[in-house]
Amino acid sequence: MTETSASPVTHATLGVPSTLTSGVERMFPTLTSAQVERIAAHGHARPIRPGEVLVQPGDQNVPFFVITTGGVEIVRPSSSNETLVALYGPGQFTGEVNMLSGRPALLRVRTSEAGEVIEVDRERLLALVQTDSQLSEIIMRAFILRRVELIAHGLGDVVLLGSNHCSETLRVKEFLTRNGHPYSYIDLDRDDGVQDLLDRFHIAAADVPVLISRGEVVLRSPTNQQIADCLGFNEGIDQTQIRDVVIVGAGPAGLAAAVYAASEGLDVLVLETNAPGGQAGSSSKIENYLGFPTGISGQALAGRAYTQAQKFGAQVMITKDAKRLWCERKPYAIEIDGNVRVPARTIILATGASYRKPSIENLSLFENAGVYYGATFMEAQLCRGEEVVVMGGGNSAGQAAVFLAQTAKRVHMLVRSKGLAESMSRYLIRRIEQNPAIVLRTNTEIVALEGSRHLERVRWRDQRAASIETHDIRHVFLMTGAVPGTQWLDGCVALDANEFIKTGPDLSQDDLTAAHWPLARAPHLLETSLPGVFAAGDVRGGNIKRVASAVGEGSIAISFVHQVLSE
Ligand SMILES: Cc1cc2nc3c(=O)[nH]c(=O)nc-3n(C[C@H](O)[C@H](O)[C@H](O)COP(=O)(O)OP(=O)(O)OC[C@H]3O[C@@H](n4cnc5c(N)ncnc54)[C@H](O)[C@@H]3O)c2cc1C
Repeated sequence: MTETSASPVTHATLGVPSTLTSGVERMFPTLTSAQVERIAAHGHARPIRPGEVLVQPGDQNVPFFVITTGGVEIVRPSSSNETLVALYGPGQFTGEVNMLSGRPALLRVRTSEAGEVIEVDRERLLALVQTDSQLSEIIMRAFILRRVELIAHGLGDVVLLGSNHCSETLRVKEFLTRNGHPYSYIDLDRDDGVQDLLDRFHIAAADVPVLISRGEVVLRSPTNQQIADCLGFNEGIDQTQIRDVVIVGAGPAGLAAAVYAASEGLDVLVLETNAPGGQAGSSSKIENYLGFPTGISGQALAGRAYTQAQKFGAQVMITKDAKRLWCERKPYAIEIDGNVRVPARTIILATGASYRKPSIENLSLFENAGVYYGATFMEAQLCRGEEVVVMGGGNSAGQAAVFLAQTAKRVHMLVRSKGLAESMSRYLIRRIEQNPAIVLRTNTEIVALEGSRHLERVRWRDQRAASIETHDIRHVFLMTGAVPGTQWLDGCVALDANEFIKTGPDLSQDDLTAAHWPLARAPHLLETSLPGVFAAGDVRGGNIKRVASAVGEGSIAISFVHQVLSE
């Protein structure tokens, strides 16, 4: 998206069709005088002069303004011109989701017509949305819808220059998108008039991707952490304060824990390596999550959960991965980069697990569109009567093959090694051998997946024959195991044979003795072998790898956090 010059603002500026009046009203609501009065009790009146700048892009801890008389305009400045984004009159209010997180402002807020506003600082706005449910609904909905529109139209403080053929550009795009940060994108291979920009900022082709922030900061081929620092994702978050609970990982389990902890008055900090949403955030559609009969994209679910956590005051640090757990004494501490140690009274480990994936170039295109990492009743229904591939030689692959063979026309079981004996239980091997619907193909691996919107064809290679076969198969189950995010825990908590975290009743007396469990009581349901440290979601041994179970465990963990804090 390239710059446009300022024009009289209408809601169409934000791409809202004029017919969608109710959508416009929800994005730009006009409060009643009674509602304005309730807000006034949390702030103070401030006269405004025409042309007065109330907020500049990059400003932190930006106040919330309700216009009582006169008008205010929202503009995106750039070095050559301005884009008018919205215009507010009496009864309307400024702001979008950054106001909840305390991140720097994206756009300029300027008086368009003299009058008066009510100014409310961020802390008091948070208190208001936590206590006044009617205003909370109106304000939160407007904030979320405004952010969605800013993202859709690339209206923010970032211009990204790159090439769609460059994997680093795709990484930066994914990072900004998954963090819900609006940006405009200029494709060096396709957009005209790029040369001016390259000359102005002395950018060479080898520098891409290049991120230009607020028209002045230029980052060449930046890391995710440099982007987060530049855009102030973590600004204003105190890393030294002892928290009631530090949550490691902002996937469904971590975000659910953050929402429950913050809404129940605990002081919460979440540490996340990449972006809120975890694995679920990369899922194009989650169809089995309760309450969403038509499905919801992982990104939308994560965005809502993230905003909800921030509404209740949880703080989330992005690109801060936990590198070590200091567990010798209380308060515990989690080391993040730069040797900073974040102290915590209790901890929830929600670092998930990553599936081992074969190196097939376009694999992610077909995830949930023909490629699956689990074989449940739902997936079995999708491929009823069709041929399927199960890849993997362990017990989970064997169970999946036997299960799918009940409904699929044929199951091709692909194993890279020369047989199953080393990796699978005898009873499963027998069932596979005896099942006419399962064809075992040893020394074989997938080399390519093909299709447009859904997987249509699979190519595999038999290493002995050195031949490649192509089959019209629309469903592939990758059952090659998952690696839990536990490498950094360094002996602090007991793990099972596959390095997942053991909790509650799964901890044997031997585990507790080895861990020097110091308390008379047994570990709580999701508690690890270290008192006050819990595990939730995919990282926990025996967990059902589903969004709903991760959310459930994250929420349940908080009730035990309360118990530990009161011990
Ligand atoms: C392609 C795909 C599709 C799926 N579809 C569905 C579906 O349709 N329905 C369903 O119910 N389930 C689905 N699942 C499973 C579901 O996504 C997971 O069960 C769920 O995301 C687990 O949540 P979690 O919070 O435990 O872990 P994760 O979602 O894995 O989140 C863990 C988070 O921790 C962060 N992290 C890891 N290590 C560190 C560290 N050291 N420091 C800081 N942060 C760290 C990660 O960056 C990540 O954000 C799917 C999974 C995949 C891969």
